[in-house]
Order: sequence, then structure tokens, then C-alpha cells
Amino acid sequence: MRKPLVAGNWKMYKTVAEARHLVSEMVPGLQAIESVEKVLCPPFTAMLAVRALLEGTDIGLGAQNLHWETSGAYTGEISPLMLAELCQYVIIGHSERRAYFGEVDDLVNRKIRAALMHGLIPIMCVGETLEEFEAGITEEVIDRQIRQGLARMELGDKIGQQGQSPMAIAYEPVWAIGTGKAATALGANAVVANVIRPVLTELFGEEFASSTRVLYGGSVKPENAADFFNQDDIDGALVGGASLIATDFISITRAAAI
Ligand code: PEP
Repeated sequence: MRKPLVAGNWKMYKTVAEARHLVSEMVPGLQAIESVEKVLCPPFTAMLAVRALLEGTDIGLGAQNLHWETSGAYTGEISPLMLAELCQYVIIGHSERRAYFGEVDDLVNRKIRAALMHGLIPIMCVGETLEEFEAGITEEVIDRQIRQGLARMELGDKIGQQGQSPMAIAYEPVWAIGTGKAATALGANAVVANVIRPVLTELFGEEFASSTRVLYGGSVKPENAADFFNQDDIDGALVGGASLIATDFISITRAAAI
């Protein structure tokens, strides 16, 4: 049984003051939903303030990116060692990073290794573009992103004592992100059931594949969240726009409760 996970990706929104305000609006409602793992991923600049407000709650904190080296002359970057002092999760390979910052599968691979090495839980994003979707090559693209993003790793050995996977995956069709046009719940579930879990099984074994939470992301709103969460292979959501509105993020999280 996989515990549902709902993560909010705030992207490049919210000053420190705005972040504090949003978190204080969210905390009581989120804390009441015990059967769901909740994670907030604010921009780096707000992480310390958000962390202080989350202390003593069951709400996790995540970053939106990291550098793969532990330290070094990489101006403007943040290392996994630094993040491990602050948070538990990190989003890796988001389509906006792939599209605007040249992140290719090999880079995603380095970042996932670095995150795991420092005890962070990567939320690895995969998803096809509109062009790839229309060309009917979704399966091929996702298959490649998973195999290359997780290449040369022994993840089957990293299952926790209570059978927990060291990472999560977010299936986010690029054409559904921030567009208001979500995938169908059945379509998203089919990609997870027919591509993502079988590839994970082949690479790292059945226990890894069945313990890894796979989230859906792409225009998740209070109105459509339950459709996704009712699917057998979808274990939660990575939420962008709606995670910036306290009532919406709480409603989405409530829809994931079991
Ligand atoms: C995201 O940023 O990962 C995302 C899914 O955005 P949105 O919910 O706004 O589509």
C-alpha cells in the first residue's frame, strides 16, 4: 500500500513574506489530512522561512532543483549537501528545466544520484511534449527518460526497512503543465501502468516498482484531482498553479486521502 503524496511546486513565485502568508494559511488544513504525505517546494529564497513554519508539523519541505556536485566553483548553484540541511525532497528534471535550462537525461541522472547520496528524496519528472504526444511516441519518450535518468544505479538495494522506495516519479505531460488542459485520468494511468512501472520492474525489481509513488502532474485542480487519485497506479500529484492557492491545495490533498 503506497501512501499518497501531494507536492506543491511553487516555481518562481512568492517572496519570503508571501511564502510565510501562504504557509500559515495552509498548515491547519493540511495537517488535518493525516493519511497523505504533503510536501511544499518553495523557491530557494523562501525555504528557511517555510521550514521554520513547518517545524512540528507533518508537512515536508522540498527544493525545486539542485547541482550534482557537493561543493565547488559553480556560481549561483545550490548543492545537495546544502539542501540536505534544509529539506527532505527535491524535484529533479522538471520539464521547465529541461526546456529552458538544457537539462537532458544524463544531467537528470547525475542530479538523482547526488540527491540520493545525500539522503534527499528525488521527485523525478518525466513527460512527453505536445509534439511527441501527437506523434504517438509518448511510451518511447517516457521509457527513455526513465532508463537514462536512472541509468547505472542500484535502486533495488535502496528500499527502506519498511519497504519504502528512496524516490518518487511524477508523470507530467508537458502539454498539460500550466495550460489548464489536464490529461485524462485513464490516459495518465495507462502511461504509469504500461510504461513506468514495467520499466522500473525491469530495472530494479518488483518491490521497487510497486513501492515507488508515481504522481500525476499537469493542471491538477480541486475539480479533477479525485479522477486521478481514483486510478490504481497514480499515487498523488505534483501541483503547480493550484499549490499557490491555499484552499485549492488543501482540497486537492483532501481528495488524495485514503
Ligand atoms: C508543475 O509545475 O509541475 C505543474 C504540474 O504545474 P500545473 O499544476 O500548474 O500544471
